Amino acid sequence: MTTQQTETKEFQAQTEQLLDLMINSIYTNQEIFLRELISNASDAIDKIKFKALTEPELIADDSEFEINLEVDQENNLFIISDNGIGMTYEDVIENIGTIAQSGTKEFLRKLKQDKENIDLIGQFGVGFYSSFMVAEKVTLITKAVGEEAVKWESTGDGTYSIEDAVKKERGTTIKLKLREEFTAQGDEEDFTDPQTIKNLVKQYSNYVRYPITMEVPTEEGTEVQTLNSMTPLWKKNEDEVSEEEYTEFYKRNFTDWQEPLETIHWSVEGLVKFTGLLFIPQTAPNDLFSPDFKTGIKLYSKDNLIMEECQELLPNYLQFVKGLIDSPDFSLNISREMLQNNKQLKVIAKNAEKVILRNLKKMLNNQREKYEKFWQEFGKAIKGGIYSNPDKQDKLVDLLLFSSSHLEEEKTTLAEYVERMPEEQESIYYVVGQDRTSIENLPQMELVQDKDLEVLYLLDEVAEFVINILGDYQDFEFKSVLREDLDLEDESETEEEEEVEGLLEKIKEHLADKVDDVRLSKRLKSSAVCLVSGQQGLSMSMEKVFNQMEQNLGQAQRILELNPNHQLFTTLQEIYNQDPEAETLQEYSELLYNLSSLVEGFTPEDPVEFTTKITDLMSKAK
Ligand code: ADP
Repeated sequence: MTTQQTETKEFQAQTEQLLDLMINSIYTNQEIFLRELISNASDAIDKIKFKALTEPELIADDSEFEINLEVDQENNLFIISDNGIGMTYEDVIENIGTIAQSGTKEFLRKLKQDKENIDLIGQFGVGFYSSFMVAEKVTLITKAVGEEAVKWESTGDGTYSIEDAVKKERGTTIKLKLREEFTAQGDEEDFTDPQTIKNLVKQYSNYVRYPITMEVPTEEGTEVQTLNSMTPLWKKNEDEVSEEEYTEFYKRNFTDWQEPLETIHWSVEGLVKFTGLLFIPQTAPNDLFSPDFKTGIKLYSKDNLIMEECQELLPNYLQFVKGLIDSPDFSLNISREMLQNNKQLKVIAKNAEKVILRNLKKMLNNQREKYEKFWQEFGKAIKGGIYSNPDKQDKLVDLLLFSSSHLEEEKTTLAEYVERMPEEQESIYYVVGQDRTSIENLPQMELVQDKDLEVLYLLDEVAEFVINILGDYQDFEFKSVLREDLDLEDESETEEEEEVEGLLEKIKEHLADKVDDVRLSKRLKSSAVCLVSGQQGLSMSMEKVFNQMEQNLGQAQRILELNPNHQLFTTLQEIYNQDPEAETLQEYSELLYNLSSLVEGFTPEDPVEFTTKITDLMSKAK
């Protein structure tokens, strides 16, 4: 078709609506117009390359495929050109004048459902029209092979003009007359600044497969530079990439000055196609467990960055992993909202989780020191994984490491613990505490130490919750040294005599509002007294965790245990025998309770009264 004069046409109603939004919205991420235009240019080159497979004459001029950028600071212009497929007159009307494209359509459909939600713009990339976010006038000149060139122009005001034009080379040039705020005179980003453009290309379009060139000022004058690195590292084979290249890539793209602890690079060619390049950092960020934590996973599609902080790609407990997934199955315009229910994404996330866990297991088996380092930093996250997804326990349990009474420096897995267990041992013993020393001084540890039983030391608050969820490992029940019924007591122990029972009952009576039971202890050797938690439910240490979080989930059952072989017990017995109702017995009971809860890390209910009682007692003694 040939037309000599300029035709002015009205945009389709939908298009106008969209333009209006583009121009008037307070959309904050205007810079993405560049990614959208580059991506269109790259698609156009893809198309001509593909077509040339059967019609080689289309690219007979033999020119290099290229996307060229140009800035003109005097005239406030930004210009992008490609030597892709170009468009015919009809193509322009069809593609640029109407909204036939799926992303845009979807955007408008959503917008109709939810008129108030201006944020929707941010969730959809809307291709070519995004140029109106930064431009007051857009001029497109395009030429398809063997066709007349066409010029399309619009100020986004409801109409556009279309006319024949002069252009010798195949391809498309788009000229944006920038709105003043996006120039050196404005307060927004200056899109006439070569450095700004350079940075944006690096950020959003670094791995576009064709060179993105621009003339940039240098000390000597100007030179044409290629701004993108083209071949994405992750598209290379693992054996083609050196350790240094991975490290360099990681540091540059994932804001870390340290090299990664582990690099995981793999591809999947199945129903869903994708490549993953993930990194486990050396150190955990300080805000890993804060609600504001930002994940470092990016989603690419065909080498274009389409979403940063794409937490949907990994389960919650693995959000510390950084890296990217590139899958051609996502459209550039996919919104975060759409991603959340995306089936392909779920498949990818599942696979990524599997690959990471497999990798960690390998590290645990073959590079123990490295794994312990990992555990030091991210063990809490793995434990959190079991705690918040009990259904994942089978996958995660063998990744757990514990300190142990029988290992000074290293840590043990549960499998290794079980391996070391003497044949007659029926349970896995554990104890909760602040650190080795305070644990080893606990009165409750006396019996297990005496019997030289291996005890796992749970040194952080999550570990006990995890053990509680697990319940057992390889059919060996977990038993807390700090709970009743340790099942270790010598059977030979004599039965409680009647008078002992009377004393215990009396103490229990005095402590009725504090403890659930008072018993003779079989686990104490040299200490006089201790408190243990009931067999089920909250333990005292868990109670403390909830207290710290200011959550009241009730109290742990408390059982006061007295050592019958201790001098103190004899003294209590004597007082009781003289006068079961003696007031001293009441006072002593409370003191014993307070002392033993102190050992458990609780403060006495009334510290002043507690202190007075102790000092009174000391004054009496001679
Ligand atoms: P999308 O890229 O999602 O298809 P756009 O609004 O960005 O939507 O573009 C609409 C259409 O215009 C494209 O599908 C393509 O056919 C055409 N187009 C845009 N830019 C170019 C270009 N540089 N060269 C050739 N065709 C283009």
